[in-house]
Amino acid sequence: KEVLLDIQNLKTYYPIKGGFLKRTIGNVKAVDDINIQIKKGETMGLVGESGCGKSTTGRTILRLLTPTSGKIIFDGKDITKIKGNVLRKARQDFQMVFQDPYASLNPTQSVGDIVSEPIRNYRKVSKKELKSEVIELLRRVGLPPEAYDKYAHEFSGGQRQRIGIARALALKPKLIVADEPVSALDVSVQSQVLNLLKELQDEFDLTYLFIAHDLSVVKHMSDRIGVMYLGNMVEVADNKSLYAEPLHPYTQALISAIPETDPKKRKERIVLQGDVPSPANPPSGCPFHTRCPMAKAECAEIKPTLKEVKPGHQVACILY
Ligand code: SF4
Ligand code: MG
Repeated sequence: KEVLLDIQNLKTYYPIKGGFLKRTIGNVKAVDDINIQIKKGETMGLVGESGCGKSTTGRTILRLLTPTSGKIIFDGKDITKIKGNVLRKARQDFQMVFQDPYASLNPTQSVGDIVSEPIRNYRKVSKKELKSEVIELLRRVGLPPEAYDKYAHEFSGGQRQRIGIARALALKPKLIVADEPVSALDVSVQSQVLNLLKELQDEFDLTYLFIAHDLSVVKHMSDRIGVMYLGNMVEVADNKSLYAEPLHPYTQALISAIPETDPKKRKERIVLQGDVPSPANPPSGCPFHTRCPMAKAECAEIKPTLKEVKPGHQVACILY
């Protein structure tokens, strides 16, 4: 399959300003040299604890942020540094579904206005056409036509996320970055929204970058998964091999924490010691060495890079 998104050596740093002159005195290394390839029609999951750089990665890919260095190739075009009208045009093809459906929908706009906004921004359509397009989008996400004239606060969290999804679909994008799309929702409605995203993927030929901290949610959604720690990608594998045979000690710890209902499959939980170091002052060598149960002396010196150790399975750790 063709590659839709190719991320090469991506770094996104936030400058830390300080002192009387507000000079840059350091950097928060939110994303520190990651590589991702996503093929057309696939769902790439991105997992890791909060603060590991998942959201910054998603926002950089959508060019809501400009990367510090590296390259973003989208559908064969280099979008790393595009600006202004070129960026505006390119944006039609990549959209975002946000984590918090309460905060991301304007409370003063009707649902019809919210969902039609991207269309109004990019295309000239008559009022009548616009309305029927929006009602069709609402239908596709499971909302009745009457939703058109209502306001977001009249809906439940799950329904609001459906409104957010309809808005993301309005321009028929190629890529959707979904950043924790169900983590603000009740567990009882999470799977409905996830299944909706899956149905829409087939129907609209979508490619997803699916960001979540919850490994069981990512497992449910993704074809391939990347595990991030402190701005770095530490392991990339297809869904099955990642869960059946996690290689990186960090991934092993994350997976050991997933509740397993079958007692025969239950493994001992690996509890990590210590806190995640600050991305403003990351450790030398392997970023995980301060918490790694397998760390050796050289782990503080050598920074391992992602290596393919089995077909399609990459890991950044000196043990391999
Ligand atoms: Fe642990 Fe060393 Fe591997 Fe890092 S390189 S994950 S510290 S064993
Ligand atoms: Mg986040």
